[in-house]
Amino acid sequence: MAKVVGIDLGTTYSCIAYMEGTDPKVIPNLDGLLTTPSVVSITSSGERLIGNLAQRQAFTNPKNTIVAIKRLMGKKYDSEEAQETIQRMPYKLAEAANGDLMVELGSEKISPPEISAMILEYMKKCAESFFGEEVNEAVITVPAHFNDHQRQATKDSARIAGLEVLRIINEPTAASLGYGLNTNENATIAVYDMGGGTFDITLLEINDGVFHVLATNGNTYLGGEDFDNRIVDWLTDEFKREKEIDLSQDKLALQRVKEAAEKAKRELSFTSETEINLPFIYSVDSGSKHIQNKLTRQKLEELTKDLVEKSFPFIDQALEDANLEPEKIDDVILVGGQTRMPLIRSMISDFFRKEPKEQINPDEIVAMGAAIQSGILKGEMKDLILLLDVTPLSLGIETEKDQFIQIIEKNTTIPTKKTRAFTTVEHDQRRVRVHVLQGEEERASENMSLARFDLVGIESAPAGVPQIDVTFEIDADGIVKVSARDVATEREQHIEVKASSGLSSEQIDKIIKRQETGEL
Ligand code: AMP
Repeated sequence: MAKVVGIDLGTTYSCIAYMEGTDPKVIPNLDGLLTTPSVVSITSSGERLIGNLAQRQAFTNPKNTIVAIKRLMGKKYDSEEAQETIQRMPYKLAEAANGDLMVELGSEKISPPEISAMILEYMKKCAESFFGEEVNEAVITVPAHFNDHQRQATKDSARIAGLEVLRIINEPTAASLGYGLNTNENATIAVYDMGGGTFDITLLEINDGVFHVLATNGNTYLGGEDFDNRIVDWLTDEFKREKEIDLSQDKLALQRVKEAAEKAKRELSFTSETEINLPFIYSVDSGSKHIQNKLTRQKLEELTKDLVEKSFPFIDQALEDANLEPEKIDDVILVGGQTRMPLIRSMISDFFRKEPKEQINPDEIVAMGAAIQSGILKGEMKDLILLLDVTPLSLGIETEKDQFIQIIEKNTTIPTKKTRAFTTVEHDQRRVRVHVLQGEEERASENMSLARFDLVGIESAPAGVPQIDVTFEIDADGIVKVSARDVATEREQHIEVKASSGLSSEQIDKIIKRQETGEL
């Protein structure tokens, strides 16, 4: 049988796994490592590098090294995430004519899904070299709170990479599968996931083998990188104080400081103090300047405690949505590399008044869960585990005076389908406009616009007479579909869907063609 894989497409690292019998196993990358930096770059000679190679040359080529692309998936140029990236990252972003976001890589402007596709393509290649055969199908994970645009963008990436997506599943759901929680037990679980760039909290219930997500919440802008940046700020402040030199404008130096900061942070999960040495970080007429600082775990905790606290309101909200108290949680699972930090473990333990479960590898567990899900979907698992997820955001439409009417509420189990009747407001009205949105705000304009639909070809009738049933559907991948039917004639109405962002099918085909000809 053709091999199927599970892929955790992470903000900082990605991981790919498969099922060996009933055991999920991580596939090593071409360098023999179990996780791959989600980094893409292009060298001055035009060579494209992915993963470890791209990461290794990042500090000599920061402008053409793209990191943390996941934060920009499905985002517009004027989004908060894009503006933050412009501030923080050495690479450049550009705005397409329709407001979409493009990333500058060499002389090209490339969309975020295309960059992610390069990472997926590399992961696919690693699996193919491992198995010695082609791999064309995958289960891919996304943060639980990803909206429709972000899920769609992830699917587009897979298509560009030549992978058929069997299912998009939420990362915390995959993690619970990966932890192999005894599905015969009934339990309520909290999954606290802090990776490189995003934070998610998900509350799940396992009931007779059914995983039911009760509530999810999170922040796309809270993760390991914020911890790194705190160390970077501390180091550059100290440098400024001691040497009166401001490193904040020197992108090359900053990149080196950032790498050293991340390394120190990792070390401090296992030791109580570490040395940060960066020789020749700056040259002045009187000679070279070096960074040489000692960082203790205690100091790191002081610098970053508030970042852990920042995750608490999201947990409170999820508990409230699920109508639960912290004491009602039976198991706490930690996911994502950042949760290796002892401070997180102890603060979460205090919050839930319960020790989190013994750590497996928090950066491999999601991919392993995705592989298990692929096994379930392919019917390879003996005891079928049903998997139910919920939609993280409410889905609805705009009505008069900028009002947002929710049609499918957040935390509804997916797949789901709801139909709502519409009618006309004018005599002889032949067309009805429906604006579909996702979000929790009362004002339509404050939610994410998904699409505008024109229901055309309505038969001539007085106002309020035609009944048009519009069906809102969220599939198992969390992707939204809308269709309409004229009840009187029983005819399906023609709907023009104008996606308001992301890549069109034609654009994706063009990208695939361009890749086949070997151009960037
Ligand atoms: P992930 O996206 O789940 O692979 O998480 C990556 C994040 O975890 C990065 O910010 C890493 O710096 C961080 N990380 C990895 N290992 C450790 C560790 N031992 N201690 C603290 N943070 C870590």
